Amino acid sequence: MPIWSDDEILSAFSRVRCWERDGQRAPHKPLLLLMALARVQRGDDPWMAYEAIEIPLRTLLREFGPPRRSQHPEYPFWWLKSDNGLWTISDLDRLEGIERTRKNVPPTILRAEHARASLSPEIVAALRQRPALVNRIAVLLLDENFPASLHEDILDAVGMPFVDERLGERAVRDPAFREAILRAYERRCAVCGYDGRLGSSDLGLEAAHVKWHAAGGPDTVDNGLALCVFHHKSFDRGAIGLDDDRCILVSQDVNGQSHVDELILRFSGQPLRVPQEGQPPPAPAFITWHRSEVFRPPPRAVA
Ligand SMILES: [Zn+2]
Repeated sequence: MPIWSDDEILSAFSRVRCWERDGQRAPHKPLLLLMALARVQRGDDPWMAYEAIEIPLRTLLREFGPPRRSQHPEYPFWWLKSDNGLWTISDLDRLEGIERTRKNVPPTILRAEHARASLSPEIVAALRQRPALVNRIAVLLLDENFPASLHEDILDAVGMPFVDERLGERAVRDPAFREAILRAYERRCAVCGYDGRLGSSDLGLEAAHVKWHAAGGPDTVDNGLALCVFHHKSFDRGAIGLDDDRCILVSQDVNGQSHVDELILRFSGQPLRVPQEGQPPPAPAFITWHRSEVFRPPPRAVA
């Protein structure tokens, strides 16, 4: 069995086809690959039964994927086999022989046939020999598909405890973008107005992309927002969004008892704080992208 080099493996993972069209997100394959990598990292059996991963993967898609009426964990489970030798399906010939399986495999068949899949044996062998590679691949998949504010949440959700220290460094991807955004918004959260400092430095204030960097969103002021840590996370998770008039939408899925009203619900329908004179507010195209690809509908009604 040939052992792949680090570069060959990283390049295979970076070329995974994600069905992204017109900026529409489809993080199915990266999320399933992260689940598979987590198993290797934990030393678990790399083979995954479809029945066992269907619900966890659907939950991941609902939590971290775009808002869609239905989720399809069967797509990546079946289609990763066409990506660069990364994926193996057990008993593939037999499964492909079953009527209708060649094109879109129905989840009922995957369940009934107890279909199992794994990262390919060559990849598993290489990752067992060189465990640090798991982190590098995880960082690559996260970087290419999600904003930094979600990386730790996703790693927690897939059960991958080891986080490469580079994950922290990359949180500030582009210091120039961060500075331009914070200056434009006069170092205040565009949702709540928070502007806390520790001595002379910002405390918990961040520059967010409206259209994610991972989805091709530019590092420009009209694609940025200064947000406190809490509202940054809420924005990237889709708990809050913006309407066409740049008023704040809060998802009906937001709930809880303690401080939820003061931290988030009360901003529903409120106008976003605009940047200082001469700086552009978020452009409509980026707001629309965020609303269709990130915000979790429906929004709460505004009194
Ligand atoms: Zn805030």
